[in-house]
Amino acid sequence: MTHPALFLGHGSPMLAIEPSRYSAAWQQLGRGLPRPRAILVVSAHWYGRGTRVTAQAQPRTIHDFYGFPPALYAVQYPAAGEPRLAARVAQLLAPTAVRLDEEWGLDHGSWSLLRYLYPQADIPVVQLSLDATLGGPQHYALAQRLAPLRDEGVLVLGSGNVVHNLRMLQFAAGAPVPPWAAGFEAAVRAAVLAGRHEALADYATLDAGAALSVPTPEHYLPLLYVLALARAGDEVSVPVEGMELGSISMLGVQVAGA
Ligand code: ZN
Repeated sequence: MTHPALFLGHGSPMLAIEPSRYSAAWQQLGRGLPRPRAILVVSAHWYGRGTRVTAQAQPRTIHDFYGFPPALYAVQYPAAGEPRLAARVAQLLAPTAVRLDEEWGLDHGSWSLLRYLYPQADIPVVQLSLDATLGGPQHYALAQRLAPLRDEGVLVLGSGNVVHNLRMLQFAAGAPVPPWAAGFEAAVRAAVLAGRHEALADYATLDAGAALSVPTPEHYLPLLYVLALARAGDEVSVPVEGMELGSISMLGVQVAGA
């Protein structure tokens, strides 16, 4: 069978431990997905030079944030790794050099979602890094090489946020979503549903709100890794939606065989 590919907005790390309408939606999604053999996560929080893939048999849970309550640092997501999948990813991405990494692990971009999608942590998880030296179209092209994984029992999960601007957060209750954020999210949503992937890869020119919505690319790019796996006839849906604090889009995108 062909597995779906899923992009989710992860939002604040606190969502990992605080029930919300997002966590409820993620739980429901997890119950509805076909059970994969393994999960490949492309997380916004592993962004740097070069392409790496976690290759440990037992990746550690990384608490990659500061100033949060102890309960968040206590979270463990003890899923196994899968060195075999890491090697397969490196093979598929050739001729791009991929380093088999023994140092990273599962960052909160992964586990804040996975603990709702697969609370038992009984499915192996491998993470793929985002090469900061590549532009959107290059990430999209790279991701296309991962297409066979959907037929090999692997769920590809992109974890980021389509709109992510921490300097523009609005904490006032009932504050309206600023037009640049609403406009950019709407443009992304429409382009996703219309299959306009070239425009989405070239996101800086997609909409006037792009510069404020994507001030740095790492939270946007995981979306491209999911879109790049779509095939003709796939059903593309938006299973989760919402805007948090005016500048964090919680939009999710699912690509699934019809
Ligand atoms: Zn994040």
